[in-house]
Amino acid sequence: MFKPFKKALLSMLVLIMSFTFMTACSQPDNSAAEEKTDIEAVKGKYKDGVYEGREPGKGGDIVVKVTVTDGDISKVEVVEHKESEMISDEAIKRIVSSVQSEKSTNVDVVSGATMTSEAVIKAIKSALVQAGGSEAIFAADPKVKHVTKEAEIEQTYEVVIIGAGGAGLTAAVEASQAGAKVVVLEKMPSIGGNTLVSGGGLNVPGSDQQKKFNVKDSVDQFVEDTLKGGDNINNKELVQVMAENALPTAEWLINDINVEFMPDRLQQFGGHSVPRALIAKGNHGTDLIEKLKAKADELGVVFKMETKADELIIDKGGQVTGVKASNAAEQQLTFHASKGVIIASGGFGSNVEMRKKYNPEFDEKYMTTDVPGTTGDGIVMAEKIGADLLHMEHIQTYPTCNPKTGIISYVANSRFDGAILLNQEGKRFVEEMERRDVISRAILDQTGSYGYLVWGQEVEEVGHMTDVHQQEYDGFVNEKLLHKAETIEELAQFFNVDVQTMKKSIDTYNKQVEKGKDTDFNRRGELRPIAKAPFYIQKVVPAIHHTMGGLKINPQAQVLTANNEVIPGLFAAGEVTGGIHGTNRLGGNAVTDVAVFGRIAGQNVVKE
Ligand code: ADP
Repeated sequence: MFKPFKKALLSMLVLIMSFTFMTACSQPDNSAAEEKTDIEAVKGKYKDGVYEGREPGKGGDIVVKVTVTDGDISKVEVVEHKESEMISDEAIKRIVSSVQSEKSTNVDVVSGATMTSEAVIKAIKSALVQAGGSEAIFAADPKVKHVTKEAEIEQTYEVVIIGAGGAGLTAAVEASQAGAKVVVLEKMPSIGGNTLVSGGGLNVPGSDQQKKFNVKDSVDQFVEDTLKGGDNINNKELVQVMAENALPTAEWLINDINVEFMPDRLQQFGGHSVPRALIAKGNHGTDLIEKLKAKADELGVVFKMETKADELIIDKGGQVTGVKASNAAEQQLTFHASKGVIIASGGFGSNVEMRKKYNPEFDEKYMTTDVPGTTGDGIVMAEKIGADLLHMEHIQTYPTCNPKTGIISYVANSRFDGAILLNQEGKRFVEEMERRDVISRAILDQTGSYGYLVWGQEVEEVGHMTDVHQQEYDGFVNEKLLHKAETIEELAQFFNVDVQTMKKSIDTYNKQVEKGKDTDFNRRGELRPIAKAPFYIQKVVPAIHHTMGGLKINPQAQVLTANNEVIPGLFAAGEVTGGIHGTNRLGGNAVTDVAVFGRIAGQNVVKE
């Protein structure tokens, strides 16, 4: 199977010797000749055989198998990885196929999946080093750039959609189902946007799960919670539309799109008066995105990847008639839209300058949970042609993210099942079911601007968060950001928290749980003790998560001017819009918003 170490060493020695000899013989300033000599030296550059390479990626080790035949790369396989589904798929596929077909290790990283790309390339190189490869050999490999060129610079569709996240895909399915010819422009190499990396929570009053668990809920209650959560500056009409359409939209997702929600899981996010969030299979957005994409493909929706919308086209009468775009092949493209354009390009959480422009508090000191594509392009494009913007200063942080990367932690959602938050001194400091903004600010006010979530078996067995999100859990443990122990003492010692204070905080909390009332912070939801081992402690920080501001729309998802006039031919849905969530979006309301208004935009654009 794998080549013996001795052979590899020998071949490396031969190569090093020949390389040294050739370098020594060439003229110092004759770089062209030197370059040529290098390339010649590496012809038939590797020893035949099958080699394994391993490199840590974002989620764990990536293992590759490289086959060398007749002195060069003949086959590359990724045999093991734990990278995020969908985001990494395209990167892995592209790098493997480029290295294999071009026999070069000098391939581009895939944007949006940089860490994964770099790890795959490094793993391939480390396999090739065993076959006699070296940095000098790799450096001589030809540069390979993967691009798809459009045959037609101008193309005409009935509907052009900007962005292949949750709202864009939902709109694409609806518009296509209504008979329209639809194209979706996506600037990244992979689809899904922030919806893909979400927890897949969808608030639905009146769901089967609520009936099963005897939860009394109503559209009015949902509206009331959402308005309260947004400090009542929300557009009430839009909130009403979202709440009324939540159940029919969930049914559509389940019955028409085949999205699977966990039958026995109902989550109560912060700020909600009852548990009302359905949770998609796997507790992330993958199932939702995969199923919407499969439906869109079945309906014949055209996807243009790595194609960035740059500008909206308007005719003399002010009607939006298309989009100017550019792609990775550096082509300037025009997509005409005979019926209309839907902007579904998401928020601007990944655009630090734009964040600072609208609210200087959210500068570079904050990491973000967002995918890199969410840079507010749709907001800028529509504003240029007269669209009104709302609530741009309201930017939300998610309180419990990875302190090293800013990526949202789903293990930390054990908070909703009963985990408590402590500070470095070992004291509770906030109601754990508070709104995201309140908890985030409270964490930032603590020593070191971080917090510790602490829970035991009673909480763990509700959501099994360490199992459901095992990959994330392992990552936190490896980074020493999470510790599991048999005693509270050990938890405290792991992070240097004062043992006695921490024990006292937990004892006090457990006594309150026994009495059924958290008299310190008035915690909502079911109270659960922290008494049964194993125990867990996890370090968390807030990171930018959602931008509430964006384009002003009406209940038909049409984009409006400052005078509340409709911009003909222009629709918007999802995080790119403003007004629905007011100052602060409640958990599980993003996916409901995206799916409800994505459908409305997709249905209405066809009526134009
Ligand atoms: P929503 O939740 O509102 O659907 P997402 O964040 O899920 O928003 O998806 C937005 C998508 O739009 C992302 O995939 C992002 O890469 C894409 N996008 C953003 N700007 C552009 C642009 N200028 N052209 C094409 N796609 C874009």
